[in-house]
Amino acid sequence: MSLIQSINPWNGEILKEFLPTGPEEIEERTALAQKVFQSWKNFPLKDKSTLLKSAARVLRERKEEFAQIISLEMGKVIKESRAEVEKCAWACDFYAEKSADFLTPELISLPDGKKAKVIFQPLGVILAVMPWNFPFWQVFRFAAPTLMAGNVGILKHASNVPQCALAIQSVFEEAGFPPGVFQSFLMDSKATLSLLEDSRIKAVSLTGSEKAGAAVASTAGKHIKKSLLELGGSDPFVVLKDADIELAAETAAKARMINFGQSCIAAKRFIVEESVYEEFLEVFIQKIKGLKQGNPLDESSDFACMARPDLAQELYVQVKKSVDLGAKLILGGSAPIKESAAFSPTILTDIPKDSPAFSEELFGPVATIFKVKSAEEAIQIANSTEFGLGASLWTKDLERGELLASKIESGAVFLNAMVASHPWLPFGGVKKSGYGRELSRQGILEFVNQKTVYLG
Ligand code: NAP
Repeated sequence: MSLIQSINPWNGEILKEFLPTGPEEIEERTALAQKVFQSWKNFPLKDKSTLLKSAARVLRERKEEFAQIISLEMGKVIKESRAEVEKCAWACDFYAEKSADFLTPELISLPDGKKAKVIFQPLGVILAVMPWNFPFWQVFRFAAPTLMAGNVGILKHASNVPQCALAIQSVFEEAGFPPGVFQSFLMDSKATLSLLEDSRIKAVSLTGSEKAGAAVASTAGKHIKKSLLELGGSDPFVVLKDADIELAAETAAKARMINFGQSCIAAKRFIVEESVYEEFLEVFIQKIKGLKQGNPLDESSDFACMARPDLAQELYVQVKKSVDLGAKLILGGSAPIKESAAFSPTILTDIPKDSPAFSEELFGPVATIFKVKSAEEAIQIANSTEFGLGASLWTKDLERGELLASKIESGAVFLNAMVASHPWLPFGGVKKSGYGRELSRQGILEFVNQKTVYLG
């Protein structure tokens, strides 16, 4: 069995090595999950809330320790890692406070005077397959609502963040959740798919690439299990000529560079009306050039490196192919050093339609800029990829903004703001960005039986 390694992408140092969870242990701990579900589903909701509030407390108390693990394991700068841990605590508080409302049975009055109720019951053991880019947040936004609904969770985390996976399990243990309500298994894709086939697993939530989503959803489908997919995005950031250009450009730089560009909802394609294009570009370039690279643990670093050297290489191939096909390099574009996860922030314009930069997700600090003649052309370009996760649109005319928002093919549109996940707002995609919703009331209702009880 090959070891699962935790490697610091900033310097290549092997931090820790772990034995994968073996078949016998997987069996034992899946049985534990199944057993504890029988009592957890009947645990009073107010006691579940108390435990989730404790999880929030543990996250806040151990924030520095967790932030260090995140930064060391996947290269996020420490200030962003701390913010990620705080956001997890916020989501725990949110569901601790709101779940009773969200799960209140709905009464339906029928035309013949009869009544019916819709009640919400948990499904059982839910498998979560999660990515490394927000290694705490992705897991907590799954776990908080899923556990509050009365389900139990098993996490298969990305192989490059095993310390995060174990740290998250420790949050639930320390908060006092009954053993087995939330467990992390260190396993590869093959073991994950065979666990998904197990009849004790009732549903799966995956955040990751299209390829992983297709593999997991087809296995789930074969066994008639529900799946929720949060996949990639190539989010458009549309700037119309009546927008606050300075603010739009400043926000655009932030939206592209957050987590060093490795975010599904990072703005990736900047679509700007021609009369304000030069002004936008100037501020955008200046903001990106002003960011400081450094060790992820340094307080003053704005970015460090990508999460793995192979990701830097893959991104470079997409840039190189696009440039070879005619895209113009405005900034960056140099080849990463072999075995290094470092990457220089890159800006491309004049993007040919047949290039990777036009149609593929660029999961790193590469911005593509499009000049358009009208809002209509902007929407057409915004909708021209297979993805549909988030979109940001900038205009001072809010009425027109809302109308244009309705024409964008995406799971969310933010007017005059960057796209962000927020516990109060449903989050998810359309097209190849996936299906299902996380967060808000919609999120807690994904893994429940919405049972109709007719009162005859
Ligand atoms: P990834 O390679 O697809 O990995 C995601 C998870 O899936 C990991 O745990 C991975 O395990 C597992 N996995 C991969 N192939 C699998 C298979 N055939 N069967 C079962 N499990 C499999 O994605 P990533 O590189 O970690 O993350 C980047 C992608 O995630 C981007 O496309 C990004 O846009 C997307 N993402 C989407 C959202 C959203 O909310 N929509 C949020 C964040 C990221 P291993 O690590 O062991 O391979």
